[in-house]
Amino acid sequence: AAGLYLVSVPIGTARDITLRALDTLAKADVLAAEDTRSLRRLMEIHGVKLGDRRVIAYHDRSGPQIRDRLLAEVTAGKSVAYASEAGTPLVADPGFQLVRAARLADLPVTGAPGPSAAIAALAIAGLPTDRFLFVGFLPNAEKARQTELEALAEIPATLVFYESPKRVAAMLRDAAAVLGPAREAAVCRELTKRFEDVRRAPLGELADAFAGETTKGEIVVLIGRGEAAEANAADIASALEAALATMSV
Ligand code: SAM
Repeated sequence: AAGLYLVSVPIGTARDITLRALDTLAKADVLAAEDTRSLRRLMEIHGVKLGDRRVIAYHDRSGPQIRDRLLAEVTAGKSVAYASEAGTPLVADPGFQLVRAARLADLPVTGAPGPSAAIAALAIAGLPTDRFLFVGFLPNAEKARQTELEALAEIPATLVFYESPKRVAAMLRDAAAVLGPAREAAVCRELTKRFEDVRRAPLGELADAFAGETTKGEIVVLIGRGEAAEANAADIASALEAALATMSV
């Protein structure tokens, strides 16, 4: 059916693609991707034929021309599938401008949901998942990174960061300094891949462990909420309980 289809792709293991994502890629009239080569490769692995379709490169930064062209196809009754290089489009990846423009034009938008590194990390790290805040990449510059961490300090939720292996040591050092060394944290590397590795420890210990190390691979850092926030949550729970007790009398 006509529409814009946001297709999630694997974050490291080709077989993590969903059957519906494969169906969507097989049937779409128009294919677009952040990285055309990786989408073609993924389709090849799964035996999804390209036929006479070519994969159009689209990035939010590519400006409105390609975006307008993709939306014109949808308006003309075509199905357009869009995938990013890894995981779910729009999650620290392009696609937002495309989806927003499609919504503003009242065009049908749907998804073939699937993997995302943030959710994959939360599911296996053992940090609280009842509330989490996706932060994505922090700024590279030290001062800007520290300022952003300060702004996150009081948020009563597990914080989810994407980080490059080159900067993870500096990021953990700054996080321990700004948020305090006692917070529970986890460094999740190479999720779904052969050398998947989760290191879970207080933030200060992780900062020390990574300080002298050269790290490789793709990384999600999770940081648990601070003790003040935990205490707050406990306060709220007991206040609620007290209030309920009064009500039932
Ligand atoms: N759209 C993707 C998603 O849904 O997760 C994220 C794309 S973002 C440009 C790439 C970053 O995601 C990497 O630098 C890393 O922080 C994280 N990431 C992607 N794949 C990962 C994996 N297999 N293990 C750990 N982190 C991963």
